Amino acid sequence: MGFVCNECQEPQNYTGPEPVCYGCAQWLARIQRKQHPAFVVVAHRFYVIGSVGHENGKVVHFHDGRIANATDLYDHGVIPERFRERLPDNATFVS
Ligand SMILES: [Zn+2]
Repeated sequence: MGFVCNECQEPQNYTGPEPVCYGCAQWLARIQRKQHPAFVVVAHRFYVIGSVGHENGKVVHFHDGRIANATDLYDHGVIPERFRERLPDNATFVS
């Protein structure tokens, strides 16, 4: 027995704990925790600042005034359009 995802409306062929698919559930979890200080959204792209240092870091300037030197930025890709209003940009990169 499957179901139709409440978010993306795609039919799913498994039964999950929520009426949403795995992909949408992942975005919803991020939206729920969007105040997390390590979450970065720039130009509809979602990043998480990690703790392991790399050479090619970026300086993140959050809209709330915080500045983070992100030496380990994980790129989780572009936020699907249906979630952008719930996960708006919260920073810019200082170049
Ligand atoms: Zn979905």
